[in-house]
Amino acid sequence: TQAFLDRIAKHSQLNAFISVTAEEALKEAAAADQRISQGKASPLTGIPLAHKDIFCTQGVKTSCGSKILDNFVAPYSATVVERLAAAGMVSLGKTNLDEFAMGSSNESSFYGPVKNPWNAQAVPGGSSGGSAAAVAARLVPAATGTDTGGSIRQPAAFCGITGIKPTYGRVSRWGMIAYASSLDQGGPMARSAEDCALLLKEMAGFDQRDSTSIQRCVPDYPALLQEPLQGLKIGLPKEYFGSDLNPEMKACLDTAVKELEKLGAQVLEVSLPLTRLAIPAYYVIAPAEASSNLSRFDGVRFGYRCEDPKDLEDLYKRSRSEGFGPEVKRRILIGTYALSEGFYDAYYRKAQQLRRMITEDFQKTLNEVDLLLAPTTPTPAFDLGSKTSDPVQMYLEDIYTLGVNLAGLPAMSVPAGQVSGRPVGMQLIGNHFDEGRLLNVAHQFQ
Ligand code: GLN
Repeated sequence: TQAFLDRIAKHSQLNAFISVTAEEALKEAAAADQRISQGKASPLTGIPLAHKDIFCTQGVKTSCGSKILDNFVAPYSATVVERLAAAGMVSLGKTNLDEFAMGSSNESSFYGPVKNPWNAQAVPGGSSGGSAAAVAARLVPAATGTDTGGSIRQPAAFCGITGIKPTYGRVSRWGMIAYASSLDQGGPMARSAEDCALLLKEMAGFDQRDSTSIQRCVPDYPALLQEPLQGLKIGLPKEYFGSDLNPEMKACLDTAVKELEKLGAQVLEVSLPLTRLAIPAYYVIAPAEASSNLSRFDGVRFGYRCEDPKDLEDLYKRSRSEGFGPEVKRRILIGTYALSEGFYDAYYRKAQQLRRMITEDFQKTLNEVDLLLAPTTPTPAFDLGSKTSDPVQMYLEDIYTLGVNLAGLPAMSVPAGQVSGRPVGMQLIGNHFDEGRLLNVAHQFQ
């Protein structure tokens, strides 16, 4: 624990952490030592980790990357935080993220952007950019992330680490600050599929405090890692390998495919014709849900409150306009508009219909093959500042990740080479509750 705390301090220029809880961490480490000496340890006991600052942590600031929660100390811990602590893991602190997890580059954080450890000019990806950079720079062996439209997989890809977004409902959302509730899902980010398997085993499982949590037993993910890949059918969705995809990245993925064939997998081309429509569908549904979820930040019960409000309306208005950053305001406006009378049918209902069609496409394809293989992103990590002036360019970066969230499927990103010193991520997409299979394939590949 001390060695990792030292590394965090030494590499503070990465800006990966919002809070470092050194004192508490050393106490937890001492408790873990004791537990080990009493023979009550689990494989994760004493292993340090960091939590994305979207998970509530009792007694520790939980900012969600926003000025509006800069003074918020959570009164309770998220289920994920509790479960990993119960396994004996030692939390070193809270990692940086895009404000309210809205972004693909970590540049919308109130606490400033995170740097990509591979190249200081490059973004680490987002929104779980702090978690990805911290693991990649070896500031911590593992971290939690959340993925509403790619926020575990895309930063994992940009930073050359492994991350899995589980099936919707697999991991409890209780205590995870809501962005778009029908899409949000927490998951682990670590160096390998094996580490992710160990973490997911603890994180997953039914929680009666989350109404969308699914009551279904959790497989022993680490035990599944050694399964042979003989006869496994892997589909390559041709729409994910079109002209949007950087050609050098495509070459990396071609090599990965050959590797998997050598391991016994059978690879065939499949089609997901609605791939492009995931962007418009997601960027209506997610802001719509966000506009509703974020209405709780009104300066009354918690978080930032403006100075000397004239009246209640002034208090709401100024607390929110001073507390939220520009990307969050943009999404609240889009969402409120899409849900408003007269526009609901044209935008929100249409987006929901598209969501259903995209889900059906995935289902059809996943009846033909065991899993899908695709790039995680169309390009390697882009430069800091290169997309901040054009939100649509930023949204287009999410083309390969959003569909999975709309369909509620599990998916992971696995390192698959580099282009000019910037990591490339290979995405594996499975059927509902097939996390074990994804981790197995990733582990055999690694
Ligand atoms: N980049 C996407 C967005 O900005 C996804 C973010 C996420 O998964 N939290 O909404």
